[in-house]
Amino acid sequence: MKGGEVERAKGIEPSCEAWKASVLPLNYTRNRTQATNPACVVNPPSLACAPVSSLLLKGGRLIDPAHGLDETADLLLADGKVAAIGGDALGQAPEGTPEIDVTGKVVCPGLIDIHVHFREPGQTAKETISTGAAAAARGGFTTVVCMPNTSPAIDNPGTVALIQDSAERSAKVNVLITGAITKGIAGEELAPIGSLKNAGVVAITDDGQCVQDNDLMRRALEYTTMFNLPVMDHCQDYSLVGAGVMHEGYWNNTLGLPGWPSAGEEMIVARNILLAEKTGAHVHCQHMTTAGSVRLIREAKSRGVPISGEACPHHFTLTDSAVAGSDKFWPDDGKGVFWAGDDDKPAWPEYDTNFKMNPPLRSAADREAVIEGVADGTLEIISSDHAPHCDYEKEVEFANAPFGITGLENELAVSLMQLYHSGRMPLSDVIERLTVAPAKLIHLDRGALGVGAVADVTVFDPDAEWVFRREDTASMAVNNPFYDWTLKGRNVMTIVAGEIAWQ
Ligand SMILES: [Zn+2]
Repeated sequence: MKGGEVERAKGIEPSCEAWKASVLPLNYTRNRTQATNPACVVNPPSLACAPVSSLLLKGGRLIDPAHGLDETADLLLADGKVAAIGGDALGQAPEGTPEIDVTGKVVCPGLIDIHVHFREPGQTAKETISTGAAAAARGGFTTVVCMPNTSPAIDNPGTVALIQDSAERSAKVNVLITGAITKGIAGEELAPIGSLKNAGVVAITDDGQCVQDNDLMRRALEYTTMFNLPVMDHCQDYSLVGAGVMHEGYWNNTLGLPGWPSAGEEMIVARNILLAEKTGAHVHCQHMTTAGSVRLIREAKSRGVPISGEACPHHFTLTDSAVAGSDKFWPDDGKGVFWAGDDDKPAWPEYDTNFKMNPPLRSAADREAVIEGVADGTLEIISSDHAPHCDYEKEVEFANAPFGITGLENELAVSLMQLYHSGRMPLSDVIERLTVAPAKLIHLDRGALGVGAVADVTVFDPDAEWVFRREDTASMAVNNPFYDWTLKGRNVMTIVAGEIAWQ
């Protein structure tokens, strides 16, 4: 998205409360004619609508963790598919195929983020599917998975269809959808999970909320085994967390803010392990933050329990001392952060609400455990938990601000810094956590680059240093703690089904 479009997007009157008056589109059904490219309606089976273009990426470092590939090789894309890799690519390229020199860059399967909030329907002053997808494309992501805590919640096929149509009309990348576990994400009654599966959801979750009733969670797991549908869970025990707004420890006491204890997450992780073991259903624990959670999942996996976990870049980079301000963070916990340049580190005040998210930033020991968990595969997926909010919502007292930060545009760089440039993980393993691992969880035929695969490709420069600026963002929201950071590693091209979605 160009600067002007960003400004226009941001110029929209913030009216996040407007959704309360919106009509609930519960009976929405897909209008295929409206949602499809008009050319395709006129000539349904013709080639006019198929991507007939080809593209040759020359001289890049091709990393495809699914095939154990890491070598300098050309990549030919044609008709929306991977047509040839390596020595065959140049010879097989049709005449006139555009060539792009990507020497020194990494060419990998299109990145996949299974945890984003695009706020449509209902809260489109924060983000829309169009702007969220533009941020994804800018960040190198070819596929994203939307969480169901929209207004209304994605707990019925009508809302799924509404989002599918909007994505088809306006999204630059693949937008997949999760359905709710319970009606209205209220935690009281199961949503129509079979109908949601038929409508096309790739998983179910009550993300933003957590099912507190253990028996209801058990029934949800038993039910989903009939559909081979993964269950994701935002792990938060309400009785333990109460009104907590940041990690319970030294800093919440110093700052006088209600604490969100580690046990509030670990209690539900333990519950999920027990229920996964009992039912045989796969449970995926979203955005893990504590050493105890990592330990529980590691132990359960060693026994073969169908459990998995994910980690977000902010949780393996920042700590709770960041809430006390940059002058507290940098001299202490900040020393553990990989830093690329010689330039001054950015400053922020205490109680900055861009450091408020759920689950919260934890201690340095927790951060270390999460990094170890990602490195050894206990937490096999990296996600952003991209959670846009309006400026005015975040510009209030810390305790009153909504939880959440955006993340799609800094996710790749921050992951590379903390996991690869820091020497903690090989580059191919970091890419694996962002491609084939999330694809496998949601049974998606993406995240690998074999011949014949859909040509979703990300090209990035792992060593490029750049300053992440809020004025450049493609998201409608700017609630992000990493602005003005010097980052190392930058997306240079996002290709979706053979077409360049961002460059
Ligand atoms: Zn969540």
